[in-house]
Amino acid sequence: MKIIKRICFDLDNTLIPWSDNNYKSIRPVFKNLGLHCDNDTISKFVSALQDYITTCDIFTASGITTHINMNLNINLNDDFISMWSEELAKCIPKKISPAVSLALEELAEKYELYVLTDWFKESQEKRLINSGLIKYFSKVCGIDNIKTKPSFESYNQLLIDVKPQNCVMIGDSLNKDVLGAANHGIFGILYDPQYKNQDYPYAFGNFNELPELIEQIEEMLYIKNKIVC
Ligand SMILES: [Mg+2]
Repeated sequence: MKIIKRICFDLDNTLIPWSDNNYKSIRPVFKNLGLHCDNDTISKFVSALQDYITTCDIFTASGITTHINMNLNINLNDDFISMWSEELAKCIPKKISPAVSLALEELAEKYELYVLTDWFKESQEKRLINSGLIKYFSKVCGIDNIKTKPSFESYNQLLIDVKPQNCVMIGDSLNKDVLGAANHGIFGILYDPQYKNQDYPYAFGNFNELPELIEQIEEMLYIKNKIVC
């Protein structure tokens, strides 16, 4: 009997690499809104955004714009996030690693695949569409109007119809994706392309290692489950 039913992936720097150059995508939006935007604006914008993400109680589009307006002394309107999402959707590498597509294709035959990302669902769905990866996923969960990962509310979206022990979470953040998932009873797997976290045993550095690692974890969970029963 299969223990793992659902495999959930983080998006940025797990499925799709993130580059800080992507923040330059605010330029056309600012221009459209008649606002000045130079390198200093971008760096202030990034720092205000990161500050909001780490301190906000609930992640909302209006919360972000208010926080940025306050820090940059500007007046972005309520449409800013949806306008920026259109630009962010284009921020994907020219070619997604074939190892990622191959691993997802293999895993999608056996498991239900989800995405759990610390950003707005619609915006991230567009990036998955443009990268050609959306077809492997049955659901994309964001953090619209809830707390960021690893909150109970964010992980609870994965657990509406499966038990935590039937779910695994894969991501590049040890705190948010691995230990965060474990706090909710979900087995966490670390994507560690630079093999930095030598201490965490359930890690992989290349997506071509992932299907076999999942098989090993499946076997381990099966034995553990048998002992418990
Ligand atoms: Mg990530």
